[in-house]
Amino acid sequence: MSLVSSVAPKEAERLWSECLALIQQQIASLSYKTWFEPIKAISFENGELSVQVPSQFFYEWLEEHYYVLIKNTLAQIIGGEARLTYVVIPPDEEGATDVVPLVQQQSIHVIAESHNGKSPGDSPASSKHDNLQPVKTYLNPRYIFNNFIKGDSNQLARAAALAVGNNPGGTSFNPLVIYGGTGLGKTHLIQAIGNYALENGKSKRVCYVSSEKFTIDFVDAIGADTMRDFSNYYRSMDLLIVDDIQFFAGKEKTQDSFFHTFNTLHQEGKQIVLSSDKPPKELRGLDERLISRFQWGLTADIQPPDLETRTAILRKKSEDDHIDVPQEVLDFIAANVTSNIRELEGCLISLLAKASLENREINIDLARDVLRLVVSDVRSPINVEEIQRLVAEFFDLPVDLLRAKTRKQEIVNARQIAMYLAKEMTNCSLKTIGLHFGGRDHSTVIHAYQSVEDQLKLDTKYRDTLQSIKRKIENTIR
Ligand code: ADP
Ligand code: MG
Repeated sequence: MSLVSSVAPKEAERLWSECLALIQQQIASLSYKTWFEPIKAISFENGELSVQVPSQFFYEWLEEHYYVLIKNTLAQIIGGEARLTYVVIPPDEEGATDVVPLVQQQSIHVIAESHNGKSPGDSPASSKHDNLQPVKTYLNPRYIFNNFIKGDSNQLARAAALAVGNNPGGTSFNPLVIYGGTGLGKTHLIQAIGNYALENGKSKRVCYVSSEKFTIDFVDAIGADTMRDFSNYYRSMDLLIVDDIQFFAGKEKTQDSFFHTFNTLHQEGKQIVLSSDKPPKELRGLDERLISRFQWGLTADIQPPDLETRTAILRKKSEDDHIDVPQEVLDFIAANVTSNIRELEGCLISLLAKASLENREINIDLARDVLRLVVSDVRSPINVEEIQRLVAEFFDLPVDLLRAKTRKQEIVNARQIAMYLAKEMTNCSLKTIGLHFGGRDHSTVIHAYQSVEDQLKLDTKYRDTLQSIKRKIENTIR
């Protein structure tokens, strides 16, 4: 189809609805409803289709997850030169016209407006609070987005944090609450927001504070009769980051003071970012008024990282420190330290310390010595052959059949499970897994993985079977 020029909204709507029809066929219906139905076509001119999205975060999510899909669809419906322009218009500001260019990316071109009539870096606090004491940010410069590894376990939290860092106070994620277990990256992520916003001129007055420090400052202020300074200081922030809010529990006066700080900042369109070890509604000993406010914005969790993410974190850390650690050693550590990223880092550091103190080579034996101190039973990394052997044994089949061409249903079933577990339990690429299964293509492995996932969702008996095979593999490989 050739590029035509038209400003008619009708034309835009027609083209976009053709795009939608194609997109709908290619993604899950829930994703389609969530991410595509809210998009409205605005205009089509000189090969550029403008669409309206409800928030910056929304646009970023589309870019991160559906870039290729959207690009290919546009090429198919409009032509290879087609461009897409996003206009961010929050639902309560429809009709707003002051759109400004934000980012330009390959053939998709983005326009977004800044919210609240505020442009980035133009901090309203600066004029009002000119004579306030300077901020000590308490940010650790090591905690940045660039070295925060993305994984399934932290995907939403990270995307929301990026959106907030880019537009503090201007997204609907106010407050942004990140919650999760200890050592999973909450402090890193919330500080990354502060570092990013400062570095990119999105906020001027940024402060990171633990809930304990806030409490101590509060108590000190009462003692020294400087409550007014205390309140003014925290209420002058453009971006206030409070870590571990669960420690506010039971401290009623501090909570009361924080409640007023929260209200002032929120009313002025300033950003609040919080972390907690539980979702807000499960926090005990906190005032209901606070808990309800914590739920105004977005609450996103961080889960323990999967094997792939753990390995990626170790690789990044060793690269950043310019230390050459063999991949098999990284795999070995990642396979054994499963619940906590701080511990994962600790193992790597101990490994390096031991290597240099005892002048030993960094290898599996050394790693085993280090891991024995942290993990009660050290496991060898699992390999694909072992998984195949145990799956075949479970189904009472000769292992060769898993690698053979046969399409008998029971063998296909066992083979798919073995492929699924190989993907879940090892670090092998899809291509490598395919090769282990009689030289099959990586797309066959993806298909197997998806069909096991589908059955897991539908069939509890199947889920139990898979769990017992997995347990068997874990118990055998020690
Ligand atoms: P929490 O506050 O949840 O207890 P931290 O933010 O202190 O956890 O994280 C513990 C350690 O793990 C920090 O050194 C942090 O840099 C590191 N870490 C956590 N998550 C990641 C990640 N996704 N990528 C890289 N490093 C991470
Ligand atoms: Mg922390």
